[in-house]
Amino acid sequence: MGGRPMSTLSPTSSDYNISVTEEQEAFRLAVREFAEKELAPVTQKIDRDNQMDMRLVKRAAELGLFGVPFPEEYGGGGGDDLSLVIATEEIARFSAAFSAVVGATYLVSTPLFLFGTEEQKRKYLVPIAKGERIAAHAMTEPGTGSDVAAISTSAKKVGDKYVINGKKMFITNGDKAETFLIFARTGPKEEGKRHHGITAFIAEKGMPGLNVGQRTDVIGLRGDQPVELVFDNLEVPEANIVGELGRGVRIALTCYDHGRVGVSAQGTGLAQAALEAALNYSTQRQTFDNYLLSYQQVQFKIAEMTAAVHTARLLTYWAATLTKKGKDFIKASSIAKITATEAAEKNAHMAMLIMGAYGVSTDSQVERILRDSQIIKTYEGTNDIQRLTIMKEVAKEMGVLQ
Ligand SMILES: Cc1cc2nc3c(=O)[nH]c(=O)nc-3n(C[C@H](O)[C@H](O)[C@H](O)COP(=O)(O)OP(=O)(O)OC[C@H]3O[C@@H](n4cnc5c(N)ncnc54)[C@H](O)[C@@H]3O)c2cc1C
Repeated sequence: MGGRPMSTLSPTSSDYNISVTEEQEAFRLAVREFAEKELAPVTQKIDRDNQMDMRLVKRAAELGLFGVPFPEEYGGGGGDDLSLVIATEEIARFSAAFSAVVGATYLVSTPLFLFGTEEQKRKYLVPIAKGERIAAHAMTEPGTGSDVAAISTSAKKVGDKYVINGKKMFITNGDKAETFLIFARTGPKEEGKRHHGITAFIAEKGMPGLNVGQRTDVIGLRGDQPVELVFDNLEVPEANIVGELGRGVRIALTCYDHGRVGVSAQGTGLAQAALEAALNYSTQRQTFDNYLLSYQQVQFKIAEMTAAVHTARLLTYWAATLTKKGKDFIKASSIAKITATEAAEKNAHMAMLIMGAYGVSTDSQVERILRDSQIIKTYEGTNDIQRLTIMKEVAKEMGVLQ
């Protein structure tokens, strides 16, 4: 990351420049058309059956949704993080689960792009970016989530291979993936450097010892429920190490810094969908001979929901723009993640209140949005972990923490 770090105490106006190109707007319209015409009709079925529509995932690949920010030479669309959040918002407006299938692949393709060797990029990044191979990122374990340095999956060197043993849990796309990014301990914890000694490995479906375990049913993102992965003497060639030996946590954290911006876009899309549902209902439903929207109590809610959507979108675009500028975007992406995911929750709840019994009906999409908002508040670092991250960055700026 280059450029002058963004400062909380002496901000620069240019830190807040956001510019969306005509090309990006055209891309938004293309994704919106796909979302409205092809995804919207099956959203409820995906949620109800808890089953992803893999035919539509292939359509998303044709639209280039898996490689948006990568250069064309690596199978990408030559866009940037801003193009990706624009597309993610349009998809999440109808199905956060569908956007999670796509989004989780970036937790593998982004580290490959930023830290992989040229050979790894050609072999693994290109097919993921083209949407030919689904990918899964395996860090979380039954015993640890937020504290990534506490993982216990081990990788022991035997000749020119590493033998991986352990168990991962809550892995999105684990049951669909052909390419896996696995984090395992290759060295002991060091005094004062507890993040050292963990390494990132690429593994492929079909390798002996790589087993998909049980699915964990969670309240949201139905259609893309996470699964366990069990490694039983999984042998991975040394050439499949991504980045430096023992420096996997740095790779993971950089990947989450980018990924959080995508989660913010999911939150924005969900918050927008809840607002639209409340507006539709309150302009059609009459009580006591008046449309619901004529009551000030409803108007205030709609105004607050509108403010929440715009705040979420602006912060998401801001964080995505800072990644492109090569600016310090860690704090921005945490701020955007908290704001946008909590906007989704707040708007779903308000829409529910406005829509009365229809709001709490499982036929209404706001019930799904409320469930989905709980997941996006949790994954890629809970919102409380984001609060810790923001504070850590502010402390660094103030020189009270290194
Ligand atoms: C649907 C879903 C999909 C997921 N997909 C993936 C995936 O693809 N790959 C993957 O590796 N992981 C995945 N995860 C895991 C996810 O990233 C973790 O659940 C998340 O990081 C939180 O970890 P945890 O659940 O272990 O909570 P814990 O770390 O046990 O935390 C529990 C609570 O304590 C709080 N807490 C923890 N530490 C502190 C602290 N220092 N100060 C204050 N509060 C603290 C947290 O905010 C949280 O509220 C997924 C999870 C879900 C639910």
